[in-house]
Amino acid sequence: MKTELAALEELQSLDLEILEHRKELSAIPKNLEAMRSDVTHVGELLQREKDRLTEAEQWRVDREKEIVLQNEILTKSKAKLQAARNEREQKAAQREIDAVRKTIQEREEEALKVMEASDQYRQAIEAHTKEFAELEAQLRESEAEARARMAELEVAIGKTATHRQELVDRVSQKTLRLYERIHKRLGRAIVHAEAGTCTGCNMEILPQRYNEIQRGDKIFQCANCFRIIIFKPPTDTEDQGDE
Ligand SMILES: [Zn+2]
Repeated sequence: MKTELAALEELQSLDLEILEHRKELSAIPKNLEAMRSDVTHVGELLQREKDRLTEAEQWRVDREKEIVLQNEILTKSKAKLQAARNEREQKAAQREIDAVRKTIQEREEEALKVMEASDQYRQAIEAHTKEFAELEAQLRESEAEARARMAELEVAIGKTATHRQELVDRVSQKTLRLYERIHKRLGRAIVHAEAGTCTGCNMEILPQRYNEIQRGDKIFQCANCFRIIIFKPPTDTEDQGDE
């Protein structure tokens, strides 16, 4: 029984190690996915800024075309003023000139405003292009690291198979089934009894039961958390050089 318990404890430390490896393995793709979505987000932001700049530039070009057009109208209006035969025609031509000048001024102000906005967009695009490139480089690096680490973990898990089977062979089917059932549910299935309590849940163990556990010739489960309790002699905590 004592060797079975020892094998069981060793099996547990191996299984807990495997469990840690598997947790790390499953976390890696999730972390990468979060990084990828960050990169995509910045990429989308950048594209939106580029679209906005294109739109602003188009808007400015339209305003400038209109200014050219209005200047042509202005030339014609000035000619009308020159050719005016009476005060009425003169006034009408002057009104036209004033209106066209006002339009030109408005379009020029609009074009200036949009140019200022375009400058800001360009600055933002520059900053985000840099950020995007850095994030992409980081992602490539993390992907390479992740691939290496995953391979390492797979190898580590694979290596435990033979040793695990050796340990399994030293434990009875009944005990193994009990252990695996608790391990699946709680992870740590075997705990020590220390100072009269179960270290799995800190519940006190009845003195009579504690004595039985100390003898170590039977499998005992905690009445509260159902973990398998193994007695751990207090002197075992420090190596006293008793070899
Ligand atoms: Zn317990």
